[in-house]
Amino acid sequence: MPRLNVLFVVSECVPFAKTGGLADVAGALPAALAERGHDVRVVLPRYRVTKKHPARMLDHVLTVPVSFGPVFGGVSETTLPGSRAKVYFLEHDNLFDRGGIYGDSNGDFGDNLARYTFLSRGALELCKLLNFEPDVVHVQDWPTSLVPVYLNTLYRHEPLGRAASVLTVHNLAYQGWFNKSELHVTGLGWDTYLKGGLERRDTINVLQGGLVHATIVNTVSPTYATEIQTPGGGEGFDGLLRARGDVLGILNGIDDTIWNPELDKHIAAPFSAHDLTGKAACKAALQREMGLPERPDVPLIGMVSRLVTQKGIDIFAESLGRILAEDVQVVVLGSGEKWAEDLFLRLSHSTPHFRAWIGMNEPLSHKIEAGADLFLMPSRYEPCGLNQMYSQRYGTLPIVRAVGGLDDTVDNFVTGFKFEELSSAALSQCVEWALHAYRDEPAHFRAMMLRAMKKPMGWNHAARQYEALFRLAMAKRRGHLTDG
Ligand code: ADP
Repeated sequence: MPRLNVLFVVSECVPFAKTGGLADVAGALPAALAERGHDVRVVLPRYRVTKKHPARMLDHVLTVPVSFGPVFGGVSETTLPGSRAKVYFLEHDNLFDRGGIYGDSNGDFGDNLARYTFLSRGALELCKLLNFEPDVVHVQDWPTSLVPVYLNTLYRHEPLGRAASVLTVHNLAYQGWFNKSELHVTGLGWDTYLKGGLERRDTINVLQGGLVHATIVNTVSPTYATEIQTPGGGEGFDGLLRARGDVLGILNGIDDTIWNPELDKHIAAPFSAHDLTGKAACKAALQREMGLPERPDVPLIGMVSRLVTQKGIDIFAESLGRILAEDVQVVVLGSGEKWAEDLFLRLSHSTPHFRAWIGMNEPLSHKIEAGADLFLMPSRYEPCGLNQMYSQRYGTLPIVRAVGGLDDTVDNFVTGFKFEELSSAALSQCVEWALHAYRDEPAHFRAMMLRAMKKPMGWNHAARQYEALFRLAMAKRRGHLTDG
């Protein structure tokens, strides 16, 4: 099979900048594709957080038409750790040297349209500077959804316009809404706004532009792919997605070099399905670090999550009275809605067997995956979800609501525990069932742990599926261009 030239344009990427699962995917998938022999380049902004990672400044000056005039930027280069995949940072301190990625404590940045126009168009301009002709441009979610629009409009008659585009939806709820008075920022005309897919309810909707223009749209689990084509899960796009008729789900993998209890540098002791001794040490270390009584016998439930209603944090809060009435320990790591942060901090101070850590804390997320016995994800909807896969790899059985990727990746009473109804009663009942299994059916619980740990979840399989999807997109693009 001939090798492919693949350009990833992403708004976050592990290990450089991360707010959620998109970053894990943007770090792992390019590396897996490069490993399979493809020429893979990743472009992302030089945010302040990325600056602790050294990168070589290139001589190129990037000239990106944003708004009424060109904006000049720099380009620096590095590689994904342990991979040949090249990473290019687009440097523009006014736009990106800030305390947050999409926003800060005051909310989303007001100039996000300009920031992600600079990234989307800048990535295409960079290809020209590097003489890199991508076969496929892979973009993710609304921040890079302008790329397929550009390929079909401003770049259509350039060599770059031959590239197919694949838009992966990680979360349909974040759509990039902007006032139409900002349209000039994108360099796109009113015809593209009105007839070319950008206009929704008299407002710019960047994601919709991508959904209309991308050669292929996919999402990150088969069940979520089905859910978003229904009125209940489509966030207003179910009709558009059904009309496309090509939306399929490819489950994310997990990065075995980062999420692996045998190699994990963050945890107290290594362990594996062949020798679980280290897991007990991890549990004791987590209890010590969180100021919980150091008891090997008590079931420890962990949670690592954005504290938002998508993640079912409201039904979790409602069920805490019932869960904490059990002989159990609960550890929560997360940040998000203030009421939830406040509640968990308050409980942390008043309840001896509940602890919360508010904020982003990468090492602690690994320690929770390794040290807990059970891992809770009561999501309202979940495009794929990574933590339930990480927890299975660490023998920490997930308790999940059976939606989206959670339903696809957890086998009930085999590698985890599932409940259907979005309610605190269903959640508490499922937790009680898991606690019963932990206490009263230790042999079965242990067999479940081993099964979960041995389950193949690496990126190899997903990378092969993306490779096939890219070839399909290329064929489709060639067809479109020939048809005019
Ligand atoms: P989403 O992308 O919707 O937030 P995922 O389960 O796909 O959910 O991915 C979440 C990723 O973010 C996981 O890698 C998880 O460990 C990480 N994460 C979430 N909150 C925190 C936090 N407070 N500290 C460290 N890592 C976190």
